[in-house]
Amino acid sequence: MKNKAIHSETDSLASTAFKCPFCGFVGPLEMMGADRFPILQKLEVIGAGRRAAKCPVCKSTDKERLIYTFLKDVEQLELKSDLKILHIAPENNLQLWLESISTNYIAGDAFLQNQHFIGNVQFVDIRNTVLPDNNFDYIICNHVICDIKEDKLALSEIYRILGYGGVAILQVPITKVSGTVEYENVKSKEEREIAYGYGYHERIYNDADYVELLSSIGFNVEVRNLSKEYEGHGLNPVEDLYICRK
Ligand SMILES: [Zn+2]
Repeated sequence: MKNKAIHSETDSLASTAFKCPFCGFVGPLEMMGADRFPILQKLEVIGAGRRAAKCPVCKSTDKERLIYTFLKDVEQLELKSDLKILHIAPENNLQLWLESISTNYIAGDAFLQNQHFIGNVQFVDIRNTVLPDNNFDYIICNHVICDIKEDKLALSEIYRILGYGGVAILQVPITKVSGTVEYENVKSKEEREIAYGYGYHERIYNDADYVELLSSIGFNVEVRNLSKEYEGHGLNPVEDLYICRK
């Protein structure tokens, strides 16, 4: 009996141990994220706040590993050829990998100054790109829409340039315990920090509201949680993936 108990404990530890899908590091995750503003705890905001989520070696976050896991293991991008990929506000590990598998990869950001990018990044304002209609197989815009005042404009532009059969990944911080939080009179960095938990965010979306918004633009939205299936990847167990298809 004693041996059996030890054995099962080892099994459960092994199944939950973090092994970084990017760099292979095995061990504890580092703490990351801010918790100065109580709104994040009050609204139980998913994809925000202080948590053990950063790989100590490659610095990948739970948010970045979620997209990597989806694209690599679920969508199996490495088996597809001639993929056209647009990556807005590129995360380093994701960018290096996408560059290595696609010759038609574009990394873009509306703010190129005072940022440290690991690869080539060109100016792209996702509210108004000069990119052609129905063009990309994948668009990754991870925790960016929450920073844009004109969110419908940006989502419509992403829909326009996404190809038919294409997939857009448009994660944002989510609350499931309140409706969407957005105030007309909140304008300064200090006001945003108190209202939304971050000085550069424009709102906190409710999960059902966000799916409704994405659907109203035209996306076919699938909500999926990969954390159990890929337990060792250090994903946030409560962060659902919003897979937006055209
Ligand atoms: Zn790592």
